[in-house]
Amino acid sequence: MRRERLKAVYEEARGCVRCPLHRTRTQVVFGSGNANAGVMFIGEAPGANEDRQGLPFVGQAGKLLDKLLAEIELERADVFIANVLKCRPPGNRDPQPDEIATCRGYLERQVELIEPDVICTLGNFATKLLRGDTAGISRLHGQAEERILGPRAIRLYPLHHPAAALYTPATLEALRADFQRIPKLLALGPLAQPEPVPPVGPAGTGGAGRPDELRPAATGEQSAPGAGEQSAPASQLGLF
Ligand code: URA
Repeated sequence: MRRERLKAVYEEARGCVRCPLHRTRTQVVFGSGNANAGVMFIGEAPGANEDRQGLPFVGQAGKLLDKLLAEIELERADVFIANVLKCRPPGNRDPQPDEIATCRGYLERQVELIEPDVICTLGNFATKLLRGDTAGISRLHGQAEERILGPRAIRLYPLHHPAAALYTPATLEALRADFQRIPKLLALGPLAQPEPVPPVGPAGTGGAGRPDELRPAATGEQSAPGAGEQSAPASQLGLF
């Protein structure tokens, strides 16, 4: 069921025109992996290879990610990989705050549907978005935290971005050491979940009481993704 619901969100995302990145993208890179994964990895934004193939982390940084996963006996079919932005910023520039605000609804829905126990944020952009804080990855990496994201309690585990580790041996060493702690984190299992918040909308409307934000303090930013187009093959989504 998760897989079907995730595919429905993908159908919406692939036709998204909510920000100017839709003009320069080749395709939306929604994310890929196991809809029932216990762990999600969240990167920054698609690069040129990802934009071409429609899948996350397929370039050099992705090869490193695969290697680090293999070292802890995981593969892509065991995890779900997504990004803060679903479309490539031209020239691989940094995501802009308005793009993040516009796109975050997709990530929120992915987290809500997959219900992971652990979320590994890769690099500064994902870490800052999910923590709702400006603290940087150099200080935070390798320290798991218990966090409430929207309706769910998760273990948030900030990691260096694999692209940052490609050319800096000390960063690679730190990333590898942090990766080695993922199995223990997963073995802890899910956190006790908060009581569901009852709907508060007027009777008969279905209510609107549950916070659908990644961080507890809602900012009033929109989170409803845009309209979809035609149906896409499941292989394009890379769902297992
Ligand atoms: N870097 C990212 O953050 N995401 C990708 O999908 C590829 C590279």
